[in-house]
Amino acid sequence: EPTLSGDFSTLMGWADSVRRMKVRANAETPDDARTARHFGAEGIGLCRTEHMFFAPDRIGFMRQMIMAGDAAARIRAIDALLPFQREDFKALFRIMAGLPVTIRLLDPPLHEFLPHGEAELAELAAALGESPEAVAARRAALSEANPMLGHRGCRLGLTYPELYAMQARAIIEAAIAVSAESGQPVVPEIMIPLVGMDSELRRTRATVEQAAAEALEAAGVSLDFSIGTMIELPRAALTADRIAQDADFFSFGTNDLTQTTFGLSRDDSGTFMPFYLEHDLIPRDPFISIDQEGVGQLVAMGAERGRRTRPGLKLGVCGEHGGDPASIGFFESVGLDYVSCSPFRVPIARLAAAQAALAGRADPVASSRVASS
Ligand code: PEP
Ligand code: MG
Repeated sequence: EPTLSGDFSTLMGWADSVRRMKVRANAETPDDARTARHFGAEGIGLCRTEHMFFAPDRIGFMRQMIMAGDAAARIRAIDALLPFQREDFKALFRIMAGLPVTIRLLDPPLHEFLPHGEAELAELAAALGESPEAVAARRAALSEANPMLGHRGCRLGLTYPELYAMQARAIIEAAIAVSAESGQPVVPEIMIPLVGMDSELRRTRATVEQAAAEALEAAGVSLDFSIGTMIELPRAALTADRIAQDADFFSFGTNDLTQTTFGLSRDDSGTFMPFYLEHDLIPRDPFISIDQEGVGQLVAMGAERGRRTRPGLKLGVCGEHGGDPASIGFFESVGLDYVSCSPFRVPIARLAAAQAALAGRADPVASSRVASS
């Protein structure tokens, strides 16, 4: 594990004394979470849950849940996943020791969870007690030409509500357990991905609230938690005033927001972006540094419209841009409360957030003296 020298800590202390925005980390494993804390992250701003299901003892249940032909088989597969998720979240809550943890409900490109090849298909059919032909037909019906613009995010949570209910229950049960064992309240933030319409958030929120209420009732305790959404589609930014009616917080997903605003695949930009950069068609790679004139305006609009509905609405960013100094300056200027970035970028983000706060002051030196006196 890297060690932080005394000079480094002093510098970080200065940065922390002047910055306004909080700095969180994107973390999904205990190792990530420990690294994040080591570098001074003030919480987890994005815990992606997709990779948790690829473990060899889980992926089979995930495939069964997606491919099940009836509700009973689907629910059996989801029930089998609950204990895994509960332990995943307990581990993170323990390491984060009361700091905020935003857990995002499943947002996979669905094809990653479909069975590939004859052997996997046959195994899945046997587990489901169905013929390989029946399962193959269902697989074909689920395949997509553009998975990143398809059946992912909250769309999956709407078509398979038991899945999001299971994750919400696991989060609440884990928070109850870790609050009890540590004597320190865990306040989970449950985040819903790829929302484009307020109707999607309203219905998904109801599923999450019901699952949480059932878990709390079964345990006979109460617990604070919040439910928010990612703003990562242009339509979400444009209708943020309506979406805020059902969101306790917003987190801007600038990776997808860049992809969908430019109409440019985040996985394929390498095919021509080097040419664009070389020929001055674009000043910076927009997947690295926020495109302030375009994508950034949607962030500003989403922030302003969200807070019009809910003054003081908590706002963060968890796309790659959350760790980019130029982008962090922009996020300061539109009033976000926190940035969330990869654990190793947390120190850079702390410095950049301090620089951004100072840049916004008339006399940085004088006001930093006031701030620290
Ligand atoms: C995003 O879209 O910016 C985001 C943080 O989510 P993901 O990268 O997982 O799609
Ligand atoms: Mg996204």
